[in-house]
Amino acid sequence: MSSTAPTISLEYFPPRTEKGAQGLAAARAELKLLKPSYVSVTFGAGGSTQDGTYATIKSILEEDGVDAAPHISCISSSRRELADMLEAYRDLGVKRLVALRGDVPSGYGTMDAAELRYANELVAFIREQTGDHFHIEVAAYPETHPQARSAQDDLDNFKRKVDAGANSAITQYFFNPDAYYAFMDSCSKLGLDIPVIPGIMPITNYKQLARFSDTCGAEIPRWIRKRLEGYGDDLASIREFGFDVVLGLCEKLLDGGAPGLHFYSMNRTEPTRALWKALDL
Ligand code: FAD
Repeated sequence: MSSTAPTISLEYFPPRTEKGAQGLAAARAELKLLKPSYVSVTFGAGGSTQDGTYATIKSILEEDGVDAAPHISCISSSRRELADMLEAYRDLGVKRLVALRGDVPSGYGTMDAAELRYANELVAFIREQTGDHFHIEVAAYPETHPQARSAQDDLDNFKRKVDAGANSAITQYFFNPDAYYAFMDSCSKLGLDIPVIPGIMPITNYKQLARFSDTCGAEIPRWIRKRLEGYGDDLASIREFGFDVVLGLCEKLLDGGAPGLHFYSMNRTEPTRALWKALDL
């Protein structure tokens, strides 16, 4: 894996309410002090937060002194709209993108009308439109994307994204480090050597985590689930146990040669900051 300094990044989502905007502002004010390699900002594939992504990226670049990478998704935008978006981000000084297919939100119909149907097509489109201007991150799934026909199909898809021009990848979150190492072995057998950065989800709220995990196909190992369920509404114990679990995971990954970590901050200062400090990043 990697011998260079690890890439430590974190992720925000664009706020939709005044209270959310205050939460993000507070998180940004604290987390920029950690000097992340870059921060990324998600994109709602339903279109609801597309403007929010742009506005958040602009504000981070102008005010935080940190590199910022927008997520862009192809599933609900035409080629024309994507080309305009790429131009707008290039004009803003953006150098890195997280390129995704995205999900069709319930109530928004199907992806039948999408001009670009999968992320590999989006990566190829970005290269065609903008050459090597952007460093392109793509998504990787150590536990296999929930809609993939098989683990091998999903790996073949990952290879298509790399072949189309992705520079590095961020994984869906997971709690079992062996899933990551097995994925890296499979990549190596396919000759894929781009950095694959583990996505790290702090554990703060069991019910929310269980809901997310069901949707995105991330497995919560039984021993972790049982402990978290056992705490019921005792949030302090959930957070304390969750912190230990995720800290142990991060340590194993970095010790095992993972080329960095990408924290899903959920727009909250803690526990990303606590993990960062405990890991002495
Ligand atoms: P793809 O790589 O296109 O894969 C999607 C599925 O299609 C996989 O099952 C794959 O195996 C399959 N597939 C690919 N090509 C083919 C083919 N030719 N034929 C048949 N099947 C195929 N979502 C958002 O909406 N906004 C975000 O900001 C966002 N950020 C994310 C950040 C990270 C780091 C990650 C890991 C996920 C993020 N997601 C986000 C979720 C992501 O959009 C979903 O997981 C989505 O379902 C898949 O996106 P993808 O780019 O991985 O798709």
